[in-house]
Amino acid sequence: MLRVENLQAWYGHVQAIHGISLEVGKGELVTLIGSNGAGKSTTLKSIIGLIQKREGVIFFDGRDISRYMPANSLAAGIALVPEGRWIFPDLTVEENLKMGSFLQKNGREIAVTLEEQFELFPILKERRKQKGGTLSGGEQQMLAISRALMSKPSLLFLDEPSLGLAPQLVQSIFSLIKKLNKAGVSILLVEQNSTMALGIADRGYVIGSGKVLLTGTARDLLNDPKVQQAYLGYN
Ligand code: ATP
Repeated sequence: MLRVENLQAWYGHVQAIHGISLEVGKGELVTLIGSNGAGKSTTLKSIIGLIQKREGVIFFDGRDISRYMPANSLAAGIALVPEGRWIFPDLTVEENLKMGSFLQKNGREIAVTLEEQFELFPILKERRKQKGGTLSGGEQQMLAISRALMSKPSLLFLDEPSLGLAPQLVQSIFSLIKKLNKAGVSILLVEQNSTMALGIADRGYVIGSGKVLLTGTARDLLNDPKVQQAYLGYN
């Protein structure tokens, strides 16, 4: 479904990504793990064109999207839930969600998609008239995910969805991600919480210094002593 070959990306003159290749198959849940500053977020942003200074080949659903701008990537079916959520605090929950369907022109379809989202996230329905900024951290993360789903993506990029959430909420966000994946959305998940990410993923890539250091099934990575020591908090 997604095939990235030899991706390179730069911030100004500084190269952050040095030849990353990765794949996400249809229906797969794939995770990128690695330490702070390894290049995980930059990888997601480069794939969809948020970082313009990039090289490499990116195929999605058989199409070459290597030169796509973010709106084209979204229209092709890839939606990003950015790190830090970036919801609109002064817009209501419903208005925030509608921002996610800005490529959709048909008002009735938008209304149907909105109702589908309210079924998936009853708490957002309850809070539909409330301003985004008044929601709790966990609810804001749900809003950010739901807003991305408003574009009906076939591939969802999630950047640090559990960041800053209380442990119980972390659990429910991971359950939600698994549920979305089971419902047919392919997922590329960037996480600091490597143990939980590998716990729900099919496969993983360990990223370090802008490169793929290691890749394998989630189970193999969880059982790899090097991975355990460096990323899973084992001593
Ligand atoms: P984190 O979890 O801390 O976000 P990450 O693995 O996602 O880590 P990136 O955010 O992709 O890492 O950062 C990769 C490299 O690019 C780092 O060296 C970082 O300092 C640098 N970098 C990230 N964003 C910018 C930016 N806007 N301008 C310049 N350099 C950046």
